[in-house]
Amino acid sequence: MMSEETIFSKIIRHEIPSDIVFQDETVTAFRDISPQAPTHILIIPNKLIPTLNQVTPEDEAVLGHMVTVAAKIAKQEGIAESGYRLIMNCNKDAGQDVFHIHMHLLGGKNLGKLVH
Ligand code: 5GP
Repeated sequence: MMSEETIFSKIIRHEIPSDIVFQDETVTAFRDISPQAPTHILIIPNKLIPTLNQVTPEDEAVLGHMVTVAAKIAKQEGIAESGYRLIMNCNKDAGQDVFHIHMHLLGGKNLGKLVH
């Protein structure tokens, strides 16, 4: 299992440019470089967890904080009432490309139904 740092660790440490919209000691949120919706922000833990399969009970507060931060950003972006979607992809079948867990916050348009 890969557990090396990814580009996201460099973003957390401000070593490469990114549009960070929120950061605290636990999480970092920044705009996706290839937005799939008018609002497309990634919320990531500052701690490196490669995939959801490596999440442990110790990480529950961090994962919960990611959701709280996502909801706060959705409000700031003005999409809280119109609606938004949070997505986390795990491994190949979900198309995970960066092995540092991240929550996609998507909104600002009708996203269609993902699950019928
Ligand atoms: P995944 O497919 O792993 O769920 O999502 C990875 C996301 O990270 C993609 O939406 C991709 O556009 C985004 N991404 C990859 N590299 C960078 C980068 O260097 N900067 C930013 N801001 N986003 C990135």
